[in-house]
Amino acid sequence: MTDRYAVIGNPVAHSKSPGIHAHFAHATGEDIEYGRLLAPLDGFRETVQRFHAEGGRGLNVTLPFKEEAYRLATAHSARARAAEAVNTLRFDADAIFGDNTDGAGLVRDIRINLGIAVAGRRVLLLGAGGAARGVIVPLLAEQPRDLTIANRTLERARILEQQFGPGVRASSYEALSGSRFDIVINATSASLTGALPPLPERVYAEGSLAYDMLYGSAITPFLQRARVEGAAHIADGLGMLVEQAAESFFIWRGVRPETGAVLAALRTA
Ligand code: NAP
Repeated sequence: MTDRYAVIGNPVAHSKSPGIHAHFAHATGEDIEYGRLLAPLDGFRETVQRFHAEGGRGLNVTLPFKEEAYRLATAHSARARAAEAVNTLRFDADAIFGDNTDGAGLVRDIRINLGIAVAGRRVLLLGAGGAARGVIVPLLAEQPRDLTIANRTLERARILEQQFGPGVRASSYEALSGSRFDIVINATSASLTGALPPLPERVYAEGSLAYDMLYGSAITPFLQRARVEGAAHIADGLGMLVEQAAESFFIWRGVRPETGAVLAALRTA
């Protein structure tokens, strides 16, 4: 029988995950079906439970439910515990297993697809929501020179500094003035509304990478600005999306799909 999976979110109609997983399933010969599941903002748990009761095997979780998914899971990976957010649920016989593959996807996209090392670099992470929290441990595992987290609400960045300890520094946007970074990652949701995080001028070091977790058909305002500000490389979050999907596929199926062809097809489309 075909195993059922889906991406759950609100909104979810725009999600590219069904196409990505269909490609993975075809390429690996895995017999799965993968759809979209729109959950009411106050009905995440019920929607998950219904999907599970109807035979669903696993879910990807997107905005705004990742923290709720963390609370719903009854067993967690270490990286999900660190993130306190879950983007992958797997329904096991005795547990609902929650994992977070966003950070692994981001790091793999930067290191393998873009060919840029994180090790020894000055990394600036913008935002302190679920997406930012989910990538801190995988970024630190790459041993950057340091990791600065800037957030509009400074207190939220300070909480992350305390939680993740040495090597992580919280900052307001204003206090970044005069500092230079090799990798600047936009994990805010500002681009969703066409807004820009209030980054001071000249934060991009020579040869630096500007990375926006958001992706779409057009270049984001953040990346446009980064180009003007002198970032040498710019990348949107499409590669991260494909890589985190591959990691989820592995968690569900035990098979690691190749990602290059899907990424190339999505870029062309
Ligand atoms: P979230 O939990 O709602 O957090 C949003 C963050 O953005 C907060 O830190 C918030 O700051 C900040 N923010 C919002 N508007 C801002 C503005 N105008 N200026 C400065 N900061 C602003 O959202 P999330 O789950 O972390 O997601 C963030 C983004 O990552 C989304 O665009 C999402 O699509 C993207 N994402 C992409 C992938 C991928 O695979 N490519 C995976 C995960 C997430 P305050 O704390 O001050 O409110």
